[in-house]
Amino acid sequence: MSHHRSRRDFLRFGAGLGLGYWLTEGFQADNTRTAAAAAPGASAADQAAPPASRTTVYIMTDLEGVAGVIDSENWCKPESRYYELAKEFLTLEVNAAIEGFARGGATDFLVADGHGYGAIHPKLLDRRAQLARNWSPPYPFSLEKGMDFAAWVGQHAMSRTELAHLAHTGSFSVYETTINGIAVGEFGEMVFCASQLGTRTIFGSGDLAFAKEAQALVPGIETVAVKRGTIPGRGDECNAESYAQRNLAAIHCQPERAREMILAGAERAIRRAKADTNFGIVRLKAPLERVAILRKQGDQPKRIGRASHPDDVIALMNSPLKYEPLRE
Ligand SMILES: [Zn+2]
Repeated sequence: MSHHRSRRDFLRFGAGLGLGYWLTEGFQADNTRTAAAAAPGASAADQAAPPASRTTVYIMTDLEGVAGVIDSENWCKPESRYYELAKEFLTLEVNAAIEGFARGGATDFLVADGHGYGAIHPKLLDRRAQLARNWSPPYPFSLEKGMDFAAWVGQHAMSRTELAHLAHTGSFSVYETTINGIAVGEFGEMVFCASQLGTRTIFGSGDLAFAKEAQALVPGIETVAVKRGTIPGRGDECNAESYAQRNLAAIHCQPERAREMILAGAERAIRRAKADTNFGIVRLKAPLERVAILRKQGDQPKRIGRASHPDDVIALMNSPLKYEPLRE
């Protein structure tokens, strides 16, 4: 079937012929095979390109690592006074990355909104992108086998990182998360999922501490730091409530300047990745174990939780952790 007809038109057409089920199945098979090439809204010229020339970039996004996003209370929640502006800053950083990747030869873009409350502004998003919001189950957040490259925009560092702006892992209550003994933040968890699917991690932007975290886990990754936290120390003494208030100080790039840096970095990333296929995949050795330690929170003591899986890191990330009090 043609990719030029929308799914809705297609289903209406198919239902009229009493062929709805068969046609829906056909659409899905076809859609899987051509992946993002069948993007609704893609131009006829895009769709006419031979499959070998298409390059898909999956872009995971978050809000705390965006230039100009000053704190969580005033910027990162629906009730925050600058929430809409923060969403605009993030979406424009994502658009800058898309432009850089496109200049480097990428043709298809899937943007995953990874901030808990959501932070991509659909109206402002580059028209070449598709937007994913899928947390059921969360991992791998709509990343699919066959996507060539993974990138991060607006990412913050993991909990316990020194000189990190708004560092946390999932929430401020998490003290540390490890997979097979390797400390990981939100970035690392998804790098392992992407690697399992064969998608190479090539680019990340956020604060300087996040850039260092990304380079330590994925040697060869291109990173852009758009701000730097200025509070030393890991904050290991903090409970969940005080850790949320700890790493608020940072020096930010002006947002337009940050976008210029992201555009240039994204273009460099994709050119380097095409020239050198030896970076971007980080493998784990089976069996797999995930351990999370939670800070004290309210009346709750420090706790430790574990989950394991023989060999599938995505299933591991979607497994509930069994918690018990941590005796130190
Ligand atoms: Zn986050």
